[in-house]
Amino acid sequence: MKVNVIDYSTGSTLLMWHCPACDTSHSVHVKRAPGEEGPVWTWNNDIHNPTIQPSVRVSGTRPLTEDEYQRVIRGEKVETVDTTCHFHIIDGKIAFCGDCTHALNGKTIDMVED
Ligand SMILES: [Zn+2]
Repeated sequence: MKVNVIDYSTGSTLLMWHCPACDTSHSVHVKRAPGEEGPVWTWNNDIHNPTIQPSVRVSGTRPLTEDEYQRVIRGEKVETVDTTCHFHIIDGKIAFCGDCTHALNGKTIDMVED
């Protein structure tokens, strides 16, 4: 399967998958519990060739390097670097948008089978 389906007892459902660009997992809600607020994506209910809409945009901050971490410990100011991972998931492929800050910017790749 290319996406993991996590059904919570509250009634919400989360899809989770590995992002090779960020080397971590991303997730979206495809169902919310009654009264639970937040965005909901549509999904074709296919774990092998998922299509999820609309696009997913993950904003974050690049993890500190060991050197930067040591500087923070010493009380020095370290500039953080904002990151963006923005993509469409279509038929089991991840199509990364041009505003991604990582190396797979603009590329389309097959999702990894788990
Ligand atoms: Zn990513």
